[in-house]
Amino acid sequence: MSEVLERVPGQRSAVAFLIQAVLRPHHAYVLAGPEGSGKSLAARAFVAALLCRKGGCGSCRDCRLALADRHPNVFLVEPEGRDIHVDTVRDEIWHPAYRTAPEPGRKVFVIREADRLSPAAADTLLKVLEEPPADAVLLLLSARAHELPETVLSRCHVVPFTALAESFVIEVLVGEGADETRARLAARLTGGNLGRARRLANDPQGLAFRDAAVRAVVAAASGPVGALRAADLVLAAAADYRKHLKDELDDELAPFRDERGGAEETYRAAIRRIEIRFQRRERRAERDYVDWVLLAASSLLRDRVVGAIGGGSELAMNPDLEPDPALSVDRAVRGLAAIEEARAALAEDMNLNVRLVVERAFLWLAADAA
Ligand SMILES: [Zn+2]
Repeated sequence: MSEVLERVPGQRSAVAFLIQAVLRPHHAYVLAGPEGSGKSLAARAFVAALLCRKGGCGSCRDCRLALADRHPNVFLVEPEGRDIHVDTVRDEIWHPAYRTAPEPGRKVFVIREADRLSPAAADTLLKVLEEPPADAVLLLLSARAHELPETVLSRCHVVPFTALAESFVIEVLVGEGADETRARLAARLTGGNLGRARRLANDPQGLAFRDAAVRAVVAAASGPVGALRAADLVLAAAADYRKHLKDELDDELAPFRDERGGAEETYRAAIRRIEIRFQRRERRAERDYVDWVLLAASSLLRDRVVGAIGGGSELAMNPDLEPDPALSVDRAVRGLAAIEEARAALAEDMNLNVRLVVERAFLWLAADAA
């Protein structure tokens, strides 16, 4: 029995499928389902189960490294900017796929947000899928699996994941020891995204992004000068978060460096890969954080609108906060639209000037009704 997989919450049928798959793995799988449905969690557990000598005991060295995304035999690919580039697939998948694994045992390739593979990157991946090395397993994760090329999809087993209910997310978090009010708020604010909700519920800094949003909305509601100050607040909060994350990643990498100090070339390559991935994550974190703050700001504006038409706290995204009556409903409606537009623009184009986009959104909120 695979203990790591059995611990994956929800997704009973996907997990049952993966538990069977550990016994005789196929060479490629697509974990397909909405954001926050637990694909990453399940993928990590599946990888551990594939690398563990006991099929995923959860406590051996292979399991621990795999669950922390640090196993030398795991090659993890994520989008850099908007896309997954062909060079990344060539260096991180194609080449290592046909080489000996850094450590004895299987090689596992995990591609997050696989629908962001560029056409050339997908072609290179296809070559590996057409001639899969015997000791390799590929996992593609996607919230938009239908956007993957048919040629890629047809060579993978598709494992469907369904969206998790808010009540289920709350239950899991409370079961893990979170305070119930906090768990409810986390589930609500993240739209039932379990991974994000867990971070929100457990991290003492978890609500800092919403505090930043509260301050930004109050500032912007005071007029155009306040709107510029609101943008400053959002960007400063994101920079803080990046700093906090960098310290965390350094801490996380430190014991691994010691453990491997002066090791042979294959290990150095593995450590380097992990470092590069962490740097990339750190860069992306700042941008993700801006999105969290904007999402929280839009939830506050939405609550103002819902409150104005008589909706009670059971309909509120932030049931623990009283909507600001000083903010006119008219401004809240315009601000809500502008902020959602800004979030969409930032998600679509990585080259946009974040400050300008955020300032523009808050200026809409600050403007007087025409
Ligand atoms: Zn194990």
